[in-house]
Amino acid sequence: MEIIEGIILKQMNYKESSKIIHVYSPKGLVSVLVHGSNKLKSPYLNLVRVFSHVKLNVSGKELKTLRDGEVLNYNSEIALDVVKYTYSLHLMEVINYFSHHEHDHEKLYYFILKIVEEIKNNQKFEVYIMMAELKLLYLLGVQPMLKHCVFCDSQEGLTFSVKDGGMLCSNHRQTSSYRSTTMHLLITLYYFDLSHPIEIHSELEDIVALRKLIDEYYEYHLNYQSRSRKLLRDLIGY
Ligand SMILES: [Zn+2]
Repeated sequence: MEIIEGIILKQMNYKESSKIIHVYSPKGLVSVLVHGSNKLKSPYLNLVRVFSHVKLNVSGKELKTLRDGEVLNYNSEIALDVVKYTYSLHLMEVINYFSHHEHDHEKLYYFILKIVEEIKNNQKFEVYIMMAELKLLYLLGVQPMLKHCVFCDSQEGLTFSVKDGGMLCSNHRQTSSYRSTTMHLLITLYYFDLSHPIEIHSELEDIVALRKLIDEYYEYHLNYQSRSRKLLRDLIGY
């Protein structure tokens, strides 16, 4: 027997009445088979929901099997708003996908628990999701260079270039397609300390621009885009 605490990133049907859940824990991703969880009288009907923060008693080696478990927090507020829900699914999909990379899972796990709280409690939840995606770039070792120009030490007129992986100074860039307020939001989120929060000023135009920047960065440097992000694009138009 083994006890696992984690957050559910994904659930898949398995055979007729069972499910396999992907649980993100301080040690990384764990797959757990939950027998009979699709049956209406199953005590684990709600335990397998995405976003649930759970504590599980499992056995087995590769694929673990659930013996007993409890939900510490359903985080069900996320599902009340379809945009918030789809946007949050996007984040879970990103974490799930990159959970196979070697990185600091413990750090990311505790960070994501805090991010989930911010998503639940904030109207401008998008900024917290983008914050998590930006910080994940650092854990994956493909973090953008933001302090000075990618090609020199200059901090003059810095603007972002996805292909160059960071900021370009006024000497090294061609034209800038980003507003300075978007650059400010990018830097604020990348360096944000959730234990010492400051107010985040963001206009929709900057949120949209930064959303596209992060999408392009993940596509260009990691060759990745999520399915939920495509759904979201249809839902919100950017
Ligand atoms: Zn330069």
